[in-house]
Amino acid sequence: MIHHERLRPPSRDYPADEWNVIEKKFHPEFLAQLETMLALGNGYLGMRGCPEEGGPNVENSTLINGFYETRPIVYGEEAYGFAKTGQTICRVTDSKIIKLFVDDEPFWLPDASLLSYDRRLNMKSGTLDREILWETPAGKRVLITSRRLVSLANKHVAAISYCVTLLNAGAFVMISSEMATKEPNASINGDDPRQSRAFAGRVLHPRSSYSKDRRIVLCHATEKSRLTLACATETALETSFRHAYKVVHKEDFGQVAFTIEARAGSRIQLTKYIAYHTSQTASVEELCGRAEWTMDRVTPQGFEGLLAAQESYMNDFWRRSDVRIKDVREDRTKRTTVEIQQAIRFNLFHILQASARAENTGVAAKGLTGQAYEGHYFWDTEIYLLPFLTYTSPQIARNLLGFRYRTLPQARARARQLGHRGAIFPWRTISGEEASAYYAAGTAQYHINADIMFALRKYVQATSDDVFLRDCGAEMLVETARLWLDLGFYSNAKGGKFCINAVTGPDEYNTVVNNNAYTNLMARENLRYAVQTVESLRAKNPDAYNALAHKTTLDPAEVDAWLRAAENMYVPYDEKLKIIPQDDGFLEREPWDFRNTPPDHYPLLLFYHPLNIYRKQVIKQADVVLAMFLLGDVFSPEAKKRNFDFYDPLTTGDSSLSSCVEAIIAAQVGDMDKAIRYGMAALLMDLADVGGNVKDGCHIASMGGTWMVLAYGFGGMRDNDGTLSFRPRRAPQDNAILRFPLTYRGQMLEVEIGIDKVEYSLREGECLVIRHETEEVQLTREHPVAVRPVSRI
Ligand code: BGC
Repeated sequence: MIHHERLRPPSRDYPADEWNVIEKKFHPEFLAQLETMLALGNGYLGMRGCPEEGGPNVENSTLINGFYETRPIVYGEEAYGFAKTGQTICRVTDSKIIKLFVDDEPFWLPDASLLSYDRRLNMKSGTLDREILWETPAGKRVLITSRRLVSLANKHVAAISYCVTLLNAGAFVMISSEMATKEPNASINGDDPRQSRAFAGRVLHPRSSYSKDRRIVLCHATEKSRLTLACATETALETSFRHAYKVVHKEDFGQVAFTIEARAGSRIQLTKYIAYHTSQTASVEELCGRAEWTMDRVTPQGFEGLLAAQESYMNDFWRRSDVRIKDVREDRTKRTTVEIQQAIRFNLFHILQASARAENTGVAAKGLTGQAYEGHYFWDTEIYLLPFLTYTSPQIARNLLGFRYRTLPQARARARQLGHRGAIFPWRTISGEEASAYYAAGTAQYHINADIMFALRKYVQATSDDVFLRDCGAEMLVETARLWLDLGFYSNAKGGKFCINAVTGPDEYNTVVNNNAYTNLMARENLRYAVQTVESLRAKNPDAYNALAHKTTLDPAEVDAWLRAAENMYVPYDEKLKIIPQDDGFLEREPWDFRNTPPDHYPLLLFYHPLNIYRKQVIKQADVVLAMFLLGDVFSPEAKKRNFDFYDPLTTGDSSLSSCVEAIIAAQVGDMDKAIRYGMAALLMDLADVGGNVKDGCHIASMGGTWMVLAYGFGGMRDNDGTLSFRPRRAPQDNAILRFPLTYRGQMLEVEIGIDKVEYSLREGECLVIRHETEEVQLTREHPVAVRPVSRI
């Protein structure tokens, strides 16, 4: 089902550009949206796109991945095994504030007379740039240019270059470089379950504050999660004018205030260096020391040095990841093509910002662009982000899978608590423990175990990283396979097949159901991969097998039992409709009355009691359709079409995770019109605020899904059977040329799908074998290019 796209503000104020997201006019009504869209981050540290002056803003958060506070989850009625401890990401010290006063007149965007205004998220250099010409009430013209970066090369660092030039008259200029720890912390709340919970009291407790000349360090700690945060800033000023400065530091506040006797014409250059360090174990002194070491290291580089490192990181990222689109009828459709190119890069750029330095953590549903979903990690990472990362930045993919591995002890403990063998990964978490307060749409989503193992298999296939599989993956496979075997049973009512009851699939509008098809199919995959991995270790690497068997007390009979369960897995099928019912009861439910559902009553979860939704045939997000994409070779093209035709009209797309999957299957079944419409919804989810809630943060999963639409949907890429293959299809009216690089087993392939031919080029590496349709194609250093015809639908 396709909903209307929400409209963007007037496009003249937000002109499309291939490399920048540009804001040409300050619109107070779009403040929150822009804060999200123009956020900077590196996967560890994130800053929303608020103006330097510290305001105006709606949610001025600076966030650190994995820096959270806990709170008891209070239930009206308790039950055994409910998650007890909530985890919520908290705002940390805001270090980016730079206030400007000219002859004591404050520069404050909403009141200022702006002769020109330009702010842009510069995706080529990885910076947020701003240039403003302000006329003070006294008629003095002030040019303010600034550039902000959250360093990708230096995980703990951010920096701002802030430049002021008086154009037509001299004045006393005051620039105040500040940092502030503001409480209350998360203030968003309300009835929308997707938003963050507010904390009852103070979250960041002061531990230390001091200054050394123009360097200020503030240190705070959380009470319950016992995390400590040190934030240091250092501000440098370059000017030929006479000036003085004053430094203030308090528990929650730091300030270096410069007063400058400026004359017209020459510029005043301020550079602010920022460092954050966090830890659960380091002492206050040590953490402050770490922040200072970072300062000592980066300040000599100057802003230019940090910028050069940022640009080189970005160059490398785009070389590995840029998806380019070109329309051959450039003249007529240029604007559209530019907009699409901009949106593609915007999505990829934000994925990078959410994940690049997510080391020892996961990736939150909103990345570090907002506090919604409390900074929790979901299956979004493995199913929606990892495909892009695996094929473009495999090291980041490995880090994220490594994070899951490090939380295996908590997953084992959770399984014990729920009375199971093996491990149960949490549906929502930061620390590795389950933080989902609503079990029906939380803990019951056992499929997350299979999702993680699915991503592991794809990662290992695409990278040949057998070391990771041996040292980390195999153990996770053993424990997740054990879970499935223990969770399911051989049901007489289903002809002795292996059934899994009382689970929730991806579709959160049908909860605690029997034999959710997606779960069963993915569990089968998980079991098979566990069998294959353990058996291959036993045959090829007995030492590693023995170590694994010892560590997990593995009995070889278990492996036989996994195989038996996999081969006897029950997958619902309806003979009459010739489709896979989403679960045992799905076809028996009453149809949802779509006709009388007002368009403004979506997402349904905000307007109807869950029971009202659960008893009806209505779907939040792709479920069987997602299984058809992930396990593409299990379904014939006819089966895909039948199932898609059945499920598509029932799928509200109330989750942003849906459109991209619908687009891919639509493309695979040849419905290019729907593929394009769903694909556009995914592509513009955040830039055009399709879901109406971009103010709360970017939809990182949908951003990853956008790449999947391009590669798997329009690019026809397949990787189900361990060989990289392509079956690109073109719609008759389609005139766009699509080009994307893939990193595969240490080599780089570039795929260009043209009007009537597809070109495969080996850009880096010695030899790569891929498949085009059914033909095997070998690319070598000597013959790096192969051209094949592309089919039209
Ligand atoms: C979706 C989940 C998703 C979560 C976080 C929910 O609305 O139903 O599938 O994991 O959002 O993105």
